[in-house]
Amino acid sequence: MAKWSEQSLEQTARLKMLKVRGCSYSSVTCNDLCNVADLFRAAAEASPHHILKLYKANGSVVNISPMLEPNSQDSYYRLEVVASDLQSIGVKSDVDNMESRLCHLETKVQQDAGNTPEIIDNLKSQVESFKRKLESVKHLSWMGLFRDESPQQLSKFPAKAKGLQLNIEEEHREVRKKFLNMSSLRVIEEVRQQLKTPMFDNWQWEEPEMLVLLQVMFTDLDFLTVFHIEVDVLQNFLFEVYCHYNNIPFHNFQHCFCVTQMMYGLIWLTDIWSKLDPMDLLILLTSALCHDLDHPGYSNVYQINAQTDLALRYNDISPLENHHCAVAFGILAKEESNILKHVTTEQYKHIRAGMIRCILATDMARHNEILNKFKSVQPVFDFRNKDHTEVLMKIMVKVSDISNEARPMAVAEPWLDCLLQEFFNQGDAEKLKGLPVTPFMDRDKVSKPSSQTSFIRFVLLPLFTEITKLFPCLEQHILEPVRRALEYYSDLERATQQEAAAAVANKP
Ligand SMILES: [Zn+2]
Repeated sequence: MAKWSEQSLEQTARLKMLKVRGCSYSSVTCNDLCNVADLFRAAAEASPHHILKLYKANGSVVNISPMLEPNSQDSYYRLEVVASDLQSIGVKSDVDNMESRLCHLETKVQQDAGNTPEIIDNLKSQVESFKRKLESVKHLSWMGLFRDESPQQLSKFPAKAKGLQLNIEEEHREVRKKFLNMSSLRVIEEVRQQLKTPMFDNWQWEEPEMLVLLQVMFTDLDFLTVFHIEVDVLQNFLFEVYCHYNNIPFHNFQHCFCVTQMMYGLIWLTDIWSKLDPMDLLILLTSALCHDLDHPGYSNVYQINAQTDLALRYNDISPLENHHCAVAFGILAKEESNILKHVTTEQYKHIRAGMIRCILATDMARHNEILNKFKSVQPVFDFRNKDHTEVLMKIMVKVSDISNEARPMAVAEPWLDCLLQEFFNQGDAEKLKGLPVTPFMDRDKVSKPSSQTSFIRFVLLPLFTEITKLFPCLEQHILEPVRRALEYYSDLERATQQEAAAAVANKP
């Protein structure tokens, strides 16, 4: 797929890595992820939209971060461009060709050997999964592969919906198989440590790998021992959670993973694991994991204005968040995926109440109410006071939920594209249905920098500043990156405005 041979990529990357080593890694600060990632992009001649994966000589994946260990001629890294600019190489026909050649090969091998070797099955599922990814990304619609699979669209075509459902089930089965196979492998210490920081790059990991990493989070927080959770029950639970996220641009399983990983990072960075009851830690991580289950891609405002089933069921009161929570407890109601099955009745009540509180707190309509409550207790905060810890837990879930801008720019920026894509889909749907168009979802009025500057200034900074007062160590980890993001988008906004003004002035 890449325009370059793997060998030349590998060699260039290796050369670049050695150069980086020459400059000494110890001088590279945490803020330099963009530079490190850019260096790799330059080495691979990749654009900002390419996804890069870095492997050790033994084949294990490494996070691209300033904490990367220097390599040597004997222990080199291998750099791979996972997704690239496909326009120039006619990807639709390439994928179709690949599929038909595989079918051909399968028939031939079946004739010769009498059965299909596993390697061909694996290849087929890889091609199928790649094709599905292309088909679900709307901004790649110029390839002629995009299929609108939104619940609204599918409800008009029951037969198509049934066919897609079968495809999705097959893909889920494949993810489960890979997840279970991989889960017995040991995740290296370096990755375990990176998981505890906001520097973690989700774009380098595939779904089965993310499930393994989620399992690591539960294990490393000692939940399996404390709550007597069997490994297979935890795996079933994580897999069910994965299956209940929809294939939509933003509120998908990758978002669930990022929010959970940020929560995991906060738990370690703030040392809160030593101050809260283990039950509260379980509430935090599980709420993050479940907080957007079965999100349909359209906000509460849409649900209420369009009088959807969800709005009717929950009487317009946080319809989405109520639904996410109900789906979570639906998963926990099944014996085989109930990670709470060995806790006492009292513990179950406490965990359920905590999860409901935390998940309902993610409704942004309640943002000011929750932030003001936190502001009022923050100066006299006491970890022994139940009221105080309850509001802190809501704040932690909220911070994790909207923390993309605290991540390195190379990780955060693609998320903004995904979010705008989902927002604009809603804006379009609202226009089509004659509903009021949600102001920040109108593709004719919103630009990337303008959407970000006000969000960072009025929502993120006040929230992150408050939590940093309680945990000063978070200043460098989440507050500073957000300030830098604000500078970046403000510059971009000014440049766009100047360009527009110049265009007006130059008009004859
Ligand atoms: Zn969310």
